[in-house]
Amino acid sequence: MNTKYIFVTGGVVSSLGKGIISSSLARLLLSRGYRVTIQKFDPYINIDPGTLNPYEHGECYVTDDGHEADLDLGHYERFTDIRTSRANNVTTGRIYQTVIDKERRGDYLGKTVQIIPHITDEIKRNVKLLGKTGDYDFVITEIGGTVGDIESTPFLEAVRQLKWELGRDALFIHLTYVPYLHAAKELKTKPTQHSVKLLQSVGIQPDILVLRTEKEIPASMLRKVGQFCNVAPEAVIQSLDQPTIYQVPLRMHEQHLDDIVIRLTDADPTPRPDLTRWNNYLHKLSTAEKVVTIGLVGKYVELQDAYKSISESLMQSATHLDHKVKVVYIHSEKLTEENVEERLKDMDGVVIAPGFGQRGIEGKFVALKWCREHDVPTFGICLGMQCMVIEFARNVMGLADANSTEMDTKTPHNVIDLMEEQKSISNMGGTMRLGAYKCRLRPGSKVAEAYGDTEIMERHRHRFEFNEDYRTRFEEAGMQCVGENPETHLVEVVEIPGKRWFIGTQYHPEYRSTVLHPNPIFLSFVKAAIAYSDEKASK
Ligand code: GLN
Repeated sequence: MNTKYIFVTGGVVSSLGKGIISSSLARLLLSRGYRVTIQKFDPYINIDPGTLNPYEHGECYVTDDGHEADLDLGHYERFTDIRTSRANNVTTGRIYQTVIDKERRGDYLGKTVQIIPHITDEIKRNVKLLGKTGDYDFVITEIGGTVGDIESTPFLEAVRQLKWELGRDALFIHLTYVPYLHAAKELKTKPTQHSVKLLQSVGIQPDILVLRTEKEIPASMLRKVGQFCNVAPEAVIQSLDQPTIYQVPLRMHEQHLDDIVIRLTDADPTPRPDLTRWNNYLHKLSTAEKVVTIGLVGKYVELQDAYKSISESLMQSATHLDHKVKVVYIHSEKLTEENVEERLKDMDGVVIAPGFGQRGIEGKFVALKWCREHDVPTFGICLGMQCMVIEFARNVMGLADANSTEMDTKTPHNVIDLMEEQKSISNMGGTMRLGAYKCRLRPGSKVAEAYGDTEIMERHRHRFEFNEDYRTRFEEAGMQCVGENPETHLVEVVEIPGKRWFIGTQYHPEYRSTVLHPNPIFLSFVKAAIAYSDEKASK
């Protein structure tokens, strides 16, 4: 069958969860046996979110092929187990950059370069890129922003044109919000009607409406919305707030979202989706009673989206191990020798978060020293691993001023140093060591045991590395370098054997942890935290 293109737009307000609806639809279509991918268009001018502060845009997600991507790609992968790539996340900045590069090369042969058709053609090319591979039955394209935004206009124009080219191979889903007015005790559909009018005014007629709501919308009201908006009554679906986002595929399936998409695009019919494993996971999630408490030490505690993939990974693993996870966000800037005991004593495990720069770094050392000395299961990720190395150098090896040259260029003991290949780089965007690399694990190490393998692939995002010159001294002092890149010998994993669980990874395992396949190292860490919790309880 032809590749089908599903466009997901949003209206009324932002943050409605277009990513979750797109992921849920993808989950349902995959579970019916279709081949599916999801892509996101972001209307901002940045080439990618790699240079964005987490306060602006939450976590920066990284794909296997080393693209720094919007955090929605994390949802796509966690829901579906598909692997996304650079082609799955395109920004206005990238579209314009390509067009401007072409103009400079003279590709437009003297023509005036304009938003229509040049920018819109480039957008269309990017939509069809994934479909053209022949690898997908469905390409779901989420258009960031809200209908009516100046920034999203070229994207809407491009997909309007695509509908003309693709006919029934293209379909529009519009997500809106139905507010509940407490004073009037009423749900209000007017914003939805306005939002659809706005979409119609740019020439797009939605085929399916998904209405986000905090209160059940009566069938009569759904019908009314359909009538006002030219949408078949059965294609007006509600998305009531759920206890967890992972329930959303089920709620969508109950209202036949997948059936409607298949019917409206004339896709080859398939059996009902097999959601057994998904339901098993949800069952565990809702029935788990025992709680495992994990402290997450970082500097963005007020902004939990900054650590989205980590908290999701912890939850996935805890659920598979029949536990609920309580993630306690601990502000690294506020941790001191005086309060560390108070803040960490109830933790069954501690994660030291990734990050950049000096802010909050001393608090990470304080946490690590306390965890190491009290033998609490501890997991350092990227900067967290680098901090593990520095703390060990300072307090165990007696290298008082050991540091990373990221924090102190003049440190006498640069146990973490800028990677050789980074030394000549001055541009910030897309220049880190990014994406999936092989890592060889030492047989017999805890980390090899966790993966059940000695060769793994994990994703990276860093400029600094463990300084090879110190390797022997660390190993003699008790911190083992148990994972390394087979080609460059770059140290990727450190471990203190004999501890309950004290491991740091230069890579980010959270980017490869999904609902149905939690990352083995997270499973191993959470298992150790549960064992520690049980051990404390039995004392
Ligand atoms: N700032 C450190 C580096 O660049 C760690 C990066 C991270 O935690 N992602 O190497």
